[in-house]
Amino acid sequence: MIENNTTNMETIFQVAKNLGNQAKKPYVILNHLFQVVHSNDLYTQLTGFEAEEIYLQHYATISGNYKSTDHTRKIEAELNKGALSVFEVVHIHRDNRSFTSKLTCIPFQLHDNNMVCHVVFIEDITGEKLKSAYKEVEQSIFTAIEKRKSLTYQLQIICSAIDCLFYPRGFTTIVWHKENKIKVVASSALQGMKSNISLYAADPRYGIYEDFLSADVQTYENLEELPLVDAHRQFAQEQALEKCFVYPIQIQQQRIGAIILLFNADTKQNQPYIDFFDKLFALLELAYNFDKQQKQLNNIAYFDHALDIPNRAGILRNIEALGIPLTVGTIQLIEPTEFSRIVELYGRDVGDQLLKQIVERLNGLAEMKNVRIGRMSSASIMLVTIGKQQEIQTASILEKPFLINNEQLFVTCKNGIAHFQEQGPIEEYMRHAEGALTLAKQQNTVDVCYYDSRHDEKMKRDMQILNHLAAAIKERIFEVYIQPKVDVRTREIIAFEALARWEDPELGFVPPDQFIAIAEKAGWVDKVDAIILEKVLVWLQQRIQRGERVTPVAINISPSHFYKKTFIEELIQLMAKYEVNHSLLIIEVTENLGLVNIEQAEKIIYRLNEAGFQVSVDDFGIGHSSLSYLQKLAFSELKIDRSFTSRLHEESTFAIVRSIIQIAQNLKFRLVAEGVETSEQAEALLDLGCSIAQGYLFYKPMPLSEAEKYM
Ligand code: C2E
Ligand code: CA
Ligand code: CA
Repeated sequence: MIENNTTNMETIFQVAKNLGNQAKKPYVILNHLFQVVHSNDLYTQLTGFEAEEIYLQHYATISGNYKSTDHTRKIEAELNKGALSVFEVVHIHRDNRSFTSKLTCIPFQLHDNNMVCHVVFIEDITGEKLKSAYKEVEQSIFTAIEKRKSLTYQLQIICSAIDCLFYPRGFTTIVWHKENKIKVVASSALQGMKSNISLYAADPRYGIYEDFLSADVQTYENLEELPLVDAHRQFAQEQALEKCFVYPIQIQQQRIGAIILLFNADTKQNQPYIDFFDKLFALLELAYNFDKQQKQLNNIAYFDHALDIPNRAGILRNIEALGIPLTVGTIQLIEPTEFSRIVELYGRDVGDQLLKQIVERLNGLAEMKNVRIGRMSSASIMLVTIGKQQEIQTASILEKPFLINNEQLFVTCKNGIAHFQEQGPIEEYMRHAEGALTLAKQQNTVDVCYYDSRHDEKMKRDMQILNHLAAAIKERIFEVYIQPKVDVRTREIIAFEALARWEDPELGFVPPDQFIAIAEKAGWVDKVDAIILEKVLVWLQQRIQRGERVTPVAINISPSHFYKKTFIEELIQLMAKYEVNHSLLIIEVTENLGLVNIEQAEKIIYRLNEAGFQVSVDDFGIGHSSLSYLQKLAFSELKIDRSFTSRLHEESTFAIVRSIIQIAQNLKFRLVAEGVETSEQAEALLDLGCSIAQGYLFYKPMPLSEAEKYM
């Protein structure tokens, strides 16, 4: 029978002590003020504290948790509830080593709910704790790697793991080198600090963390000695974190950073913790190497090293990463007109060099300020402006010659431009710009094309044409039409020009400028030219064999065909096969030919002349070449482009044509005006000194059979 509280309390203490002793575990008994009133020998063994040393000490004091009053108050509140409770605390051994302990607290109360005492069993769970903590970090890091999270994110996981271990007495930051900067990462436990810490990245004072990067493993006893930014130091002071461990992070013999652990107890590091850190380093190394690898991969996948700008995928990724609706903006693709020729002649590297020079010149333009630049394809550069519709005028960067294979050459550019419409996606706009660029490339006279929805139709049509072209070549279904070149004064036919005609059973009539451009792109144009040539030769041979009159016939040779190594060889073979005299053939090549490689053009033309062929420069005046290169190339004939003829009534055009004619006469070229449709045009040209014309005024292109009538 219990008679009064004092006897009751003594009885209860006795029961508690018996319980403790039976358990054969380290334990203490705490009174209602959480002061130690009893401890056993096992406790002394575990903690180094003798019973008399800790008698009537508050438990927080002897366990080393006295400084974190918040934490202590939380535990006290829990104990006061009077239920069995379990806590984990970082315990401090008498010799200052810390260990993680599990406290199992069994309350003893009186009937009136007055707390008498707690039996507290203490268990050193450092080993298990570290093991499970490590497992957890490992798992988190693996998941983070799998999800391709940033290195910063992974370092934060590591910081959090360390913080948890030392909670509430330790706070971790990781300092490391990042692209010539120093980056500071902290766990989310450093809440208030966290935002500040990331700000340090932009702060020049941030460099003060540099000192940690060269430090060896060491303990700083005094916060004042630490090179911390103010906010960090302030946080440490608020949390009563007075000391600091620095663990250098070394990966592959390279010091890449340091772990900085601020803590608030007089504690030496325990071996298990050091082992834990070593294992953490292995994880850190994994995260770091993975990040490095990822960057290298990104570098390959998203960057163009030849031009030192992002590639298509890179630009795409950068823009998608912005995550903004793409309603206003522009994509502009720029491609040197002569790019494929240059690559053919000098190789990829020289092509890249040209693009690089263009990029450099573009970057020098003030308008480029808010424009992203990237490489769209092997031949083209992409400019993206977001937020306003802006296109870059390329004329100014093309004024000076480019250094191509150690030669100064002028280059022109084709531009395909698409404006954003509604919400993107960006790929759609890129496709639009590509369509516009293709369109610009197909037209000799056009440098800039804008996307409009009709392009889609055209692209589809072009695909169909390409699909049918191979069969058309194989079956040689192209027909030859010829158009007379006429002496304006006598109306005599002095030559013909052969023009390809293609009537496809499915597609209907396909105009030559359409399919020639497509054939050129597909690399088949030499085959088309050869079919036309052979049909012309068959016709000439028949006339010659029949003893009928023949005049020279001009055939059109595309630049890629002209520069083909076997061009002259194959030409001569065919001429021999049909026994046609070389003087009966005129080779028409476009003006842009010389732009690409004057020297080589010069050689080929020389050899053609030597073999007895005539060479005519087609579409003269619309290219960007200067007249001066005409002197170098041994052309026999110069054809004034149709666009000049049709605008001869304009004063400026008239003046240009007059000077072209004067120069051609000086150089002793035969002059032919293209596209003469009216007698006014014919007369004006005649007045200026051009007496040969080709055009609807005289004859439209006609089948060979029809031409027979006029000869
Ligand atoms: P081109 O060499 O400039 O040929 C002259 C073009 O002007 C022809 O167009 C002809 O039909 C057209 N034309 C002639 N007189 C007049 C006129 O008075 N007014 C107007 N408005 N046009 C006139 P076509 O036949 O459509 O050929 C277009 C282009 O396709 C040619 O331009 C040539 O560059 C190319 N081409 C045609 N056949 C071949 C070929 O066999 N091989 C190659 N590589 N290109 C070819
Ligand atoms: Ca022509
Ligand atoms: Ca022409």
